[in-house]
Order: sequence, then structure tokens, then C-alpha cells
Amino acid sequence: MLSDRIQKVGMSPTMRISAKATAMKAEGIDVINLSVGEPDFPTPENIGAAAKKAIDDNFTKYTHNDGILPLRKAIAKKFLDDNGLNYEPDEIIVSAGAKNCIYNLCMAILNDGDEVIIPAPYWVSYPEMVRLAGGRPVIVQTKEENGFRLTPDELSAAVSPSTKALMINNPCNPSGTGYTKDDLQKIADIVAEEGILVISDEIYEKLVFDGFEFVSFASLGKKVKEQTVIVNGVSKTYSMTGWRLGYAAGPKEYIMAMSIVQSHNTSNPTSISQMAALEAITGPQHEIARMRSEFQIRRNYMLDRLRGLPGISCREPKGAFYLFPNISSYFNKEYEGMQIRNSYGMSYYLLKHAHVAVVPGEAFGSEGYIRLSYSTSMKKIETAMDRIADALARLEPTRKEKSISLNNTITKRKGFVETETYVGPELRDAVVAEAEDHLSHEGYFEWNANILGTVIQLRTNLPHLHDFWIENWYPAQLESDLEPHGLIYAVGWIPGREPRAYYSSDSRTAVFFKSAYYGQLRSLALGMADDISSRISESYSVRGLTLDFDGNGLIMIAPKGVGKTVYFANLLRHPKSKIVADDIVFVRLGADAIADTAERKFYMRTDFTERYTDLAALFDKSKCENVITDKNECVNGPCQRMETCRLDKGSPFCYEASPVSRAMLDPFWIDGSNKHIKRTSLKWILLFKNDPISPVISRPSPDDAVRFCEEGLTQSGALRSEPFFNPHILVRGADRTESRRLFYKRLFEKVQPVFINVGAGSKDEIQSRINGLIGI
Ligand code: PMP
Repeated sequence: MLSDRIQKVGMSPTMRISAKATAMKAEGIDVINLSVGEPDFPTPENIGAAAKKAIDDNFTKYTHNDGILPLRKAIAKKFLDDNGLNYEPDEIIVSAGAKNCIYNLCMAILNDGDEVIIPAPYWVSYPEMVRLAGGRPVIVQTKEENGFRLTPDELSAAVSPSTKALMINNPCNPSGTGYTKDDLQKIADIVAEEGILVISDEIYEKLVFDGFEFVSFASLGKKVKEQTVIVNGVSKTYSMTGWRLGYAAGPKEYIMAMSIVQSHNTSNPTSISQMAALEAITGPQHEIARMRSEFQIRRNYMLDRLRGLPGISCREPKGAFYLFPNISSYFNKEYEGMQIRNSYGMSYYLLKHAHVAVVPGEAFGSEGYIRLSYSTSMKKIETAMDRIADALARLEPTRKEKSISLNNTITKRKGFVETETYVGPELRDAVVAEAEDHLSHEGYFEWNANILGTVIQLRTNLPHLHDFWIENWYPAQLESDLEPHGLIYAVGWIPGREPRAYYSSDSRTAVFFKSAYYGQLRSLALGMADDISSRISESYSVRGLTLDFDGNGLIMIAPKGVGKTVYFANLLRHPKSKIVADDIVFVRLGADAIADTAERKFYMRTDFTERYTDLAALFDKSKCENVITDKNECVNGPCQRMETCRLDKGSPFCYEASPVSRAMLDPFWIDGSNKHIKRTSLKWILLFKNDPISPVISRPSPDDAVRFCEEGLTQSGALRSEPFFNPHILVRGADRTESRRLFYKRLFEKVQPVFINVGAGSKDEIQSRINGLIGI
């Protein structure tokens, strides 16, 4: 199991684009990469020579934890010469990259819950580093019209008693924003007043244009310097990203704490890189000017081209090597049915149709923008800009709104509330009275469901539950003289009440408080029907996926996590198969084992469309519950679907984005009675398991099969038991369990069960053995 901490940290969407770009390149497509975050110039030769000398001199051992003294002295001199700052060598630490410095600092200063103010757009790793250290990033959206500069007002508004630090990046990746001395002074006044530490990432210090005068934050005064840790490095200035060398300077207290963190992870940065960095910082500097002027030419060209495109605005960057244009006027335009909805969609579109890789603004915390790097040859930039211009010109206003408007109810609760099943008469009377008190005449719904002859009445004030209830079941008469066998009260909001369900088996009454989640109401109904019909008519509910082949029934009984739905979906595709039920059948034992579906419509997981795509069109017309309509709600994490992501392509919803989204599907819609039958006579019972020892197919004795079902162990992940793999069973007392055990034994004596061990072969092998077993 992973830590809570890592679960809070997302993988950058950049990865998705670059993974796709790499795959396209492998297919021979000429993708131009404008997503790079490093200079495309070679590391100057003198630096390489210094590294070679370090190897020749055997300077290849551990060094001082904070970096070799000559290097720290050279860095101190750099601060004095370039920034007018006095640092002693023990106020400087050298680490494996500027990134490593920031991470060490976060680890050194943040307590759980400490806040770090980060202006957006930000460099992708800032918030994640804060989270990894247990802190809380407080993102402040800066405005394009302010040149993406953090204003004093915006800063003041973000400060709270928990604020520990401000992370500022000047010049900024991705926006290229450069802060003037005046801008910085206003920020410095606030942080000095509030006592906030400033982490000033100055890695792009030397890559500035138009004579922009870079000012280091710490140089604003003595007090400010005492509250600032500067982060810098050789990656960008000397085109040395792969050498992994950065440094930080600040008050001794912070540097020492960073040193402690460093001593327990990387120890020291690479000895060879330190020698290389020493040469970089003390040697000739003319390559920087060459790189800078080349970047400036490219920036000017790219900026001109971008500004010439209709609907695009772009600030003029003062430094770094990126442009951050606003592309939001293209949202809701489309090409060949692909609608652009967000910066990720735009990046994906440009990759696919312009063969240019860019990074979505979303990755930097600013939706509506994309980042283009001009760290590639002028020739490539020209071609890329031509392609981007063409691709954007092809986008057209979306002609019509998508015609499907989903009948979807989002419920606040999306899982089960606790159920109490041993409810005596007093508690029952109390909860029934409580429920009745809250069922007013105006908002009262009542309907009798006929669950294979068992009549269960719902009394509720929740329209959604009433609606789904009516969809789900066959009707029973609703006459005053018809006594239902069972009764369910479902009552919505009661202030202060704990959400809970109760079931009294003696009086066949259930009370369900404070949840509009239909899944649990249905489960209560099935559990009650089982409790009642197993006693009255010896018909037991059996959890399994049930199919019929020419009158012969197949039921697949399986623990969670063995992947039975793949086989089910494949079998369902067979022309001879008909679906009986996707969850529960009630089985009666006479001459044969007769399995009936209890439900008129199936309350189906919509993500089944992953396996059986034909259902999507039917779900479109079904009533739905908790289908995801917002990308932020998608639980698939970084969606692996890329081009098939429905939400990115402009669909207002996605069936596959959550395991709790459901549709109420009429199985007759699949292909009428060619594909659905309500009853079958069981011929095959497949018990799925996953173990490393047994063969694909084995035939247990009835007793062994009963034991396997009763144990109901999950076959993957945490050990958990769900007796008879049936989550709907309500009454689990000894006598009821004994009678269920006897029922299963009789069932298995009548129909020989077969173990299918999915661990013993590939999916294809397992499938072909199953097909062989049923002769298809
Ligand atoms: N800060 C910023 C703003 C950056 O853009 C980068 C590199 N993309 C870094 C820090 C990381 O620098 P280093 O290679 O020294 O870790």
C-alpha cells in the first residue's frame, strides 16, 4: 500500500503528452517537440574538460556533504559579483539540481499543514514538493493582464496564520515573467511584515531579454535577505541539465537544516559535476551571451507568429525560453468531431493534427494556456509554427450542441451506509416512528415491487429512489388490501441524524436513513426478498453473472478481483448467448435448478462499456446515477485513454470514469428476446478462483464447493470474506446460514460445479477452456 502522501501527488499531465509524442515518433511520425525544459545547446567544452580532469585525477569519491569548499566559495563570489550579495560558504549548499535544493528545503521547514503560497502559473513541481513534505500549497492565480506577476493584493489575500513560505520564480517558467525591482520590493514589504520565508527560484537569472535587469530577491535589504533562500544552479545557464547540479544560499539555520536532509539522502552532489560546475562558474562566460541572443531571436520570431494567429494573446516573456499563450478562445471549437475543451485537449489536438508537442497550461496550474518552448532549432520552430497555424485554422465553431442529454442523478452518498441487521422490536418501532415522522404528505412516494412473487413496498420522500425503484422492478398491485411481504422506509435529510440502515427480519421491515444512493436500496430489497423467499418458497438468491445458451444456463460465481467480467463480456458477444442477470438470480431446486432474474431493468456499472462497448448507446437512453460529468471527478487518475477520453473529446460525460456510476438498463434493449431471457435451467456453475497451483479446470466435490462459496474469500489484495460472494444477504444468523449451506449443497449435487482457475493461464486460454466446457 502506498502512503497517503504519495496519493495526494499527481503525475504531471505533461507525461501523458510526452508518452504519446514518443509513441508517435516510434511510429515514424515527425513530431516537433516544443515541450522541452532545457537548453538545446551543448555544454561548453571547457566544462566537459574539467569533468574529464576530475575523473583523471580520481576525484570520484564522496565529497563534503554540502559541496566542495572551492565550489561554495566560487558560488559566494558569483553572488557578490552578480547580485551584490554577501554569503559565507557555510550559507551555501550544493545539491543534485535546483530541484533537489527546493525539495530539501521543503523537507526541512514544513510541518504538516503548513501553507506555502505559490503563484500560478507555477513550475510543475512546486506544489507537489510541498505536498510530499506534508505542507499545503496555496495557489494564487496571477492575471495575464498583470503579466502573470503576483500583485501585493493577491499576496496579502493569500496569507494566513499557517503561511510558512512563498515560492517565487523569477524569471518564471512557464510564463517568462520577469519581476522588476519595484515589483519585488512590494512583495518584500509584505513578507517582511508577515515574517514569511521566501524561496526564490532564480534558475533562469541569466536567460533574460531586452536588457531586462534581473534583481535577486535577497538583495532587497538585510531583513529580506534573512528571510530568503535563493535557489539557483548551472542547469539552464550552462546547458548542464543532465549534470544535476544546483545550489542554494540563505541564512545558516536553513542551510544547515537542508544539509541534514541531504546527508540522509544524496549525501553530496556528484563529485565530477561539482568540478564541472566550478569550471562553469569561474571559467569563460561568453557562451551564455551567445545562447541568450539565440534565444532572443527565436522568442521574437515565435512571439510574432503567435500574435499573428487569430484569437491568441501572448505576453512578452522577459526571460527563460518559453511562451505561454492564451488559447482559450479556441475552446468549444472542433475538428472532425474532436472538440477542444481545455488546455489538455488543445495540446492533444496539436500533437495529433499538427505533430507538435506542447504542454497544457493545466500542468502549471493555469487552465486556458499552453506552454511552447523555443529551445529547439529555428528551422523546427518555423515548421512547428506553420503546422500550428494550419491546425488552428482547421478548428471550426462547434456546429450543434451534443444531442444527448443524459438523464443522470448525482447522489451525495455513493456507497453503502452501515446496516444494522439485528434489530429488535423496540428499536424497530423507534426507527419506523422516526421515519414516519419525516414522511410528509406532499413529498411521499409509495410503490410495490414484485420481486419474483415477493412484494416489497417502498415508502420514501426521495424522488430519485422512487424513480429508480419503479424502473428496477416489476410492479405488484398497489391495493390497500394487498399486504406487502416486506416494507422499506427510505428517508432523506434529517438534521443531526446519523446515516444508517436497519433491518428487522422478524417484521420484514427495513429503514434507510439519509442516503439517496440507489445501490443500497436495491441491495436491501434483494436481501429482504431473499430472506422472505428462502423461508416461504425455498428460493435463494445466488450472486453470479448468468447467461443462457439455448435453454441451458451458465452461472459464473466469483470473488471480487478475479476479472470475471472479461469472460462474461466475451460470452455475451456469442450469438447464441442471452443474458439472464448481471448480478443476482433466484434459484429454485426441483427436477432442475431454475434460475430467474428478479429485475426488470439491470442496475449496471456503466464502466462495463469498457468491455462491452455496444452498451454505451443504450446507457445514453437509460436513467443513470453518478455518471461522471466533470474531468475533475474522474477516478481513473491520469486517464490512460488519451485520444479516447470522452470528456476531453467534448462529451458531457464519461461512463468509464468511475466504478460507482450506474445505468438502469432494460436488457431487452440489447437485442430484444434474442439477447435476454428471464429464466434458465442451470447446466454449468463456474466457480472462479485465482491460485498458483491448481489447473485451469477442476471439479470440486459439492462439500468443497459449498465451503469455497461460504468462505467467500477475495482472491486478490486484502483478505476479505463475503459469504457466498453475495453482498446482499441481510440475515446471517446460524440457522439461516445453515439452511443456505444446505441449499448450496443440494444445488451442487444437482449441477456439478467447476472451478476455473484464472491464475493458471492467459485470458485467451481461460476463455477458450470456458468456451470448450460449454461447447461453443
Ligand atoms: N526551477 C525551475 C523554475 C525550472 O524550470 C527547473 C527546470 N525545469 C528547475 C528549477 C530545476 O532545475 P535543476 O535542473 O537544477 O534541478
